[in-house]
Amino acid sequence: MAGVQVLAQLRAALPAGAVVTDPAAVLARSSDAAGAAAPGVALALVLPSTTAQVSAIARIAHAHGVPLVPQGALSGLAGGANAVDGAILVSLEAMAAIVRIDAVDQVAVVQPGVVTDDLARAVAERGLFYPPDPASSSRCTIGGNIATNAGGMRCVKYGVTRDFVRSLEVVLADGQIVRTRPPTVKAVGGLDLTGLVVGSEGTLAIVTEATLALLPAPGPTQGVCATFATVAGALAAANAIMAGPHRPSTLELLDSVVLAAISAYDPTSTLPAGAHALLLVLTDAREGGSADVAAYARAAHERAALTVDLATEPDRLDALLAARRAFQPAMQALRGASLNEDVAVPRSRLPELIERLAALAAGSGVTVGTGGHIGDGNVHPVIAFDPADPAQVAAAQRVHRQILDLAAELGGTVTGEHGIGVEKLVALDAELGPTVRDLQRRIKQAFDPTAILNPGKKL
Ligand SMILES: Cc1cc2nc3c(=O)[nH]c(=O)nc-3n(C[C@H](O)[C@H](O)[C@H](O)COP(=O)(O)OP(=O)(O)OC[C@H]3O[C@@H](n4cnc5c(N)ncnc54)[C@H](O)[C@@H]3O)c2cc1C
Repeated sequence: MAGVQVLAQLRAALPAGAVVTDPAAVLARSSDAAGAAAPGVALALVLPSTTAQVSAIARIAHAHGVPLVPQGALSGLAGGANAVDGAILVSLEAMAAIVRIDAVDQVAVVQPGVVTDDLARAVAERGLFYPPDPASSSRCTIGGNIATNAGGMRCVKYGVTRDFVRSLEVVLADGQIVRTRPPTVKAVGGLDLTGLVVGSEGTLAIVTEATLALLPAPGPTQGVCATFATVAGALAAANAIMAGPHRPSTLELLDSVVLAAISAYDPTSTLPAGAHALLLVLTDAREGGSADVAAYARAAHERAALTVDLATEPDRLDALLAARRAFQPAMQALRGASLNEDVAVPRSRLPELIERLAALAAGSGVTVGTGGHIGDGNVHPVIAFDPADPAQVAAAQRVHRQILDLAAELGGTVTGEHGIGVEKLVALDAELGPTVRDLQRRIKQAFDPTAILNPGKKL
């Protein structure tokens, strides 16, 4: 009965067509790209096009105690945007305007549904630069990036999404619309609510507009692609590069399992499939780029690289980056399904992490390929398994838990950038401890006293 009333009020508050209840259409928007956790059954999907409409949706949900699940492009890898039972799925994808780009203040004001690549292109046309670049940037939205505090390949030089969020307009659980802070470079009045909302995975507020910091355009991208006989050799070269004065803008590792998976997934990819490890090291320095490239090549040679190829031509760079972006889909294609881990450890613990991951995978019955943002100590061990084989499903779950435990044991985190969602909730006690978890739940209560915002996720 309450559901009927809620739907009637939503239809009265929103334009025609903005309330979708067709079960197939709702189901199609009920799971993110993680794919492993079964979603709940939502009441409806709503497609607001203004902040006022988001506010109206929240007021209705708040009055009836109905859960709200904010959604961007559903490219998340932790189940964060998955439907929960009885929820209203709030897709922000129609709110996709770039409101303003200001070259003097070096900011962009955008709605949450803007696709990350579209923003990057628009600011580049003005000689500006928005660095955060998750590998899903052709598809994911700025709202999703903010809610997950997304990382990417350029974090090693520029930092994560959080470092570029100046101010947010958000809709609170009861429908109030607030701005978290002035958009100035500096502002220390009050507590940092912007920082709390960034990375909160839709559990504290719905982001309806963001003021993002921009930089001047970087120099041309160039670098090296080096292969090694062992992952340990590649790690040693990576650490030498990070310790030196030639800070890379990208420092990525792919192991032999991932290299083979990418080559099978995309036979036109030009990655060396037989190598045990590959390092991709790029610079985007405006000046001194050639010296950076020479330093990366030297570091690779000194750590016994098997091959060291210069990557300076745009076509070659595009091909390498496209192959790197195919990492997750290629691993998923290997056996039909994947669990996408996202552990981060202090860089000094990486050799042990890699060694122990190989030991976990050996004889487990599933395939584990590892790669990612080695310069940040953040790697993605991806567990590939056949979802139709119960033994493999059980093995994948077992290895998943073992990897979460390993991250904690090495003083790291189970998620460097993808978020907790529903898939990594089990690891939070070990990572944060009961006092910090309780403090976080009390912060949630202050924002969302009736717990309607993305319940059962993140905290
Ligand atoms: C092939 C592939 C590669 C990837 N590579 C990377 C990578 O390099 N780095 C990285 O960090 N991630 C990566 N991801 C994960 C994913 O793309 C990011 O987490 C991204 O930020 C999610 O954006 P989205 O728009 O798809 O959000 P969704 O998946 O729709 O939602 C993600 C979370 O944000 C919340 N949310 C969405 N919009 C809002 C809003 N407006 N207000 C409040 N909450 C909101 C949702 O409730 C959910 O909790 C990758 C994913 C894939 C499939």
